[in-house]
Amino acid sequence: MLGNIVDRLVKKEWTDDEVKKYVGDYKSSYLTYANNPETRSVAASGGTTSALLISGLENGDYEGVVVCKTVIVDGKVRPKFTIATTSEEILTARGSKYVETPFLREVLPLIRGFQGRVAVVGLPCDLSGLKRRAAKDPEIGNKVALTVALVCGHNSRHALIDKTTKRLEREAGKKLADYRFSVGHWRGRLEAEFEDGSVVSKPAKYFKDYQNLFFFSERKCMACHDHYGYDADITVGDVWLFRLKNNPIKHTGIITRNDKGQVAYEKALRDDIIASDKLDVRDIMDGQSRIGPSHYNTTARSKASRFFKIKLKDTVGEKVSWHSYLNAYITLANMRLSEKGWGRKLIFKIPRPVLKFYLYFKKGLETLR
Ligand SMILES: Cc1cc2nc3c(=O)[nH]c(=O)nc-3n(C[C@H](O)[C@H](O)[C@H](O)COP(=O)(O)OP(=O)(O)OC[C@H]3O[C@@H](n4cnc5c(N)ncnc54)[C@H](O)[C@@H]3O)c2cc1C
Ligand code: SF4
Repeated sequence: MLGNIVDRLVKKEWTDDEVKKYVGDYKSSYLTYANNPETRSVAASGGTTSALLISGLENGDYEGVVVCKTVIVDGKVRPKFTIATTSEEILTARGSKYVETPFLREVLPLIRGFQGRVAVVGLPCDLSGLKRRAAKDPEIGNKVALTVALVCGHNSRHALIDKTTKRLEREAGKKLADYRFSVGHWRGRLEAEFEDGSVVSKPAKYFKDYQNLFFFSERKCMACHDHYGYDADITVGDVWLFRLKNNPIKHTGIITRNDKGQVAYEKALRDDIIASDKLDVRDIMDGQSRIGPSHYNTTARSKASRFFKIKLKDTVGEKVSWHSYLNAYITLANMRLSEKGWGRKLIFKIPRPVLKFYLYFKKGLETLR
């Protein structure tokens, strides 16, 4: 009830042109979750992505699914792409991996070496890269049966997760064996599993406060305006609506973009693998109203980039207000700071209350329109 009122109070007006430029072409949008609570248990949001991929695999629409798992290499958390051929393998890869990946370098050879068609989950930039390759190379093009984009604010470099897990290991006095970036409801919790089987769980903000300030952001994200995955068949993301905050089930927002995506969604619904309600795409955009437009605004980052001796292309030609400019400046400054040895040390010395204040200030700038 209160959530509905808050949602109505903070509701934004999105014109058709804004929907087109931020989201791109789409057919429909839905509020969904995986019906099986087991599927949802360690999923990033509502587990719909895994459920939908399992549905396609079981219906014979493809023989494999390119997924991204986490592995521990020399004590460090690293992403690893594999082709899952069973529902169990798809479930093993649940959850978001907020760490840089060598997507095309790992995924193209996997697809080439696979006998059969695949569905591919990926970040918007990676799926655009895959689409370009598929257009040039029929061996790839003929094998990619479905693409599912994760809504993406930006991604982080290894250094952030390495520092986070080092701290966790130091606090626990044990070696890391497994790691989940975020599980559970609303903003979620990180989970670190140690070699003796013990598990430490902390609010995800232990990692995300740094991430949301764009410390350790990948450089490519500065030049990216694709928040929703223009080139995918389906887009999936969180739905940050206040009316869902106290709902015991976390949901996944789905945007179907073409017939292929719509059919995949409808099969999962028909097979009773997912639960779904119609949701206006503007409601999904409301949940992303802070980060969506600021992500899109490469013009602001391009203008601010000259202070940092970086050349960033303006890909969108937006009007730049003072607050977008200041926000872009802070984003770039924080990314640059984390590229320097002394900067990295400084970042982790910032007292939490100061970090929080800085984060709220930046979020405030992102909120202004
Ligand atoms: C770097 C990153 C940034 C994101 N930013 C936002 C955001 O700003 N707003 C928002 O609403 N949502 C964002 N998401 C998406 C969101 O966190 C969920 O992944 C999405 O809602 C799907 O949830 P689910 O429970 O349906 O997926 P699950 O059922 O948990 O399945 C997730 C699938 O994603 C794949 N995957 C995870 N990480 C990666 C990766 N790095 N590269 C390729 N594939 C991967 C896994 O293989 C798995 O198949 C982001 C995700 C990532 C990885
Ligand atoms: S922000 Fe853009 S470039 Fe960065 S990871 Fe996301 S989709 Fe890729």
